[in-house]
Amino acid sequence: MIESEIVIVGGGIAGCSTAFHLASHGRGVVLLERGTIASAASGQNMGGIDSYGWGDAPDLQAHLTAGSIEIFETVQTELGEDIEFRRSGGIQAIHTAEAYEWERERIETLGKRGHVAELLTTREARGIEPGFSPAMLGAMYSPRRGQADPVKATQAFARLAERCGARVLTNHEVVAVAPRPRAGYSLTTSRGEVVAGALVIAAGAWCGPLGALLDLDIPIVPVRGQMWATAPWPPRSFHTISAAESAMAWTRDHGGAPPDLTIRDGRRVTRHLYGRQRRNGEIIFGGDRELMGYDTTPDPKGIDVNRDHAISVLPFLADVPIARTWAGLMPFPLDGKPLIGRIASRDNLWIVTGLASSGFGRGPMAGKLLADYLHTGRPAPVLAEADPARCIRERAHTLGRNEPCSPIE
Ligand SMILES: Cc1cc2nc3c(=O)[nH]c(=O)nc-3n(C[C@H](O)[C@H](O)[C@H](O)COP(=O)(O)OP(=O)(O)OC[C@H]3O[C@@H](n4cnc5c(N)ncnc54)[C@H](O)[C@@H]3O)c2cc1C
Repeated sequence: MIESEIVIVGGGIAGCSTAFHLASHGRGVVLLERGTIASAASGQNMGGIDSYGWGDAPDLQAHLTAGSIEIFETVQTELGEDIEFRRSGGIQAIHTAEAYEWERERIETLGKRGHVAELLTTREARGIEPGFSPAMLGAMYSPRRGQADPVKATQAFARLAERCGARVLTNHEVVAVAPRPRAGYSLTTSRGEVVAGALVIAAGAWCGPLGALLDLDIPIVPVRGQMWATAPWPPRSFHTISAAESAMAWTRDHGGAPPDLTIRDGRRVTRHLYGRQRRNGEIIFGGDRELMGYDTTPDPKGIDVNRDHAISVLPFLADVPIARTWAGLMPFPLDGKPLIGRIASRDNLWIVTGLASSGFGRGPMAGKLLADYLHTGRPAPVLAEADPARCIRERAHTLGRNEPCSPIE
């Protein structure tokens, strides 16, 4: 039997960052991962890191994005881990006059709040991203955005946690959880029993099944995201690349619970696009988000639509064939907001999840905020927005209910 002060379930970016920050506070930590570190969404994502800077009055989103990019930078530049991080900046392509007007207003609003983004002409965009299509109407440039290698970055957090004294146990699947008579939890894993005073759930798209082991309803749904990659090429693309179409569509209509899907009930509602060139030369793109249960088979039709969208922004891609495709599961909360904090109905039970489609870029700070809360007993004020109390219920209380989280406003 292994004993620890705190046990974390999930070796993705959320769990590994939490482990690192708790261990660096001197807390005793065991992290349990059923596969290898970064074997799920945290290793399968595009590696894009969103940020418009802290702004004048940082809300939760600004903390998660701007805070995470600072942590990534520290890991790369000060902690001796090469995670292929760079503040590359991001280019968001504008295809239509309607999107141009929408983007112009959005950049104005961001600026009034002290965030950093700029409207570029197509010529200016081509000056910094030479492959950018002359057929575009312009671009939003976000200099604060960055990129990193998802597998290397997530593994780096696990290694840093170990360096601070944490134990990281891979190939340990948690199959049962029971509260201990006095305090804490006893976890049955595929490799034996682990007991701890506090339990942190960081199981990504599998928070629902993990909650069920505790008789809790945790309303996180798996959303399939898929990607494709070319073979390695000489340097051709320098920023993270996206397009305005989906951002505009989702601002106007989030589409229900969970929000911001590209395909709903089998029907395409918008096209989403994100991509970059990796250090090894592969150019990778993706964007679709669809409810498919736990199925991670890529859909070739969606890949074709996404590739056409990418070609419209970077026309040279028309001559570069797809070398491989893959898919992963993103942890989507029904109301679009993360769940970071204490599950108040239970003793010493904590959660960090619901990071949806941008959890790689937001995970480091989500883990830090949770670790600081657990360590000090006091939540950062911005965590009010992420309070799990809004939607996590005891299972007996939710039987027969369909929507434990209120839909997004
Ligand atoms: C194709 C795709 C592209 C994406 N692109 C981006 C992007 O560019 N930028 C961005 O910011 N985000 C992106 N995301 C989203 C991002 O990857 C996720 O939000 C983030 O990785 C979630 O991290 P996590 O730690 O919560 O979950 P995960 O990485 O899924 O980790 C959860 C871990 O828990 C483990 N686990 C589950 N159940 C158990 C159990 N019973 N016992 C032990 N272990 C268990 C799993 O094996 C898994 O490793 C993308 C996602 C996908 C799928």
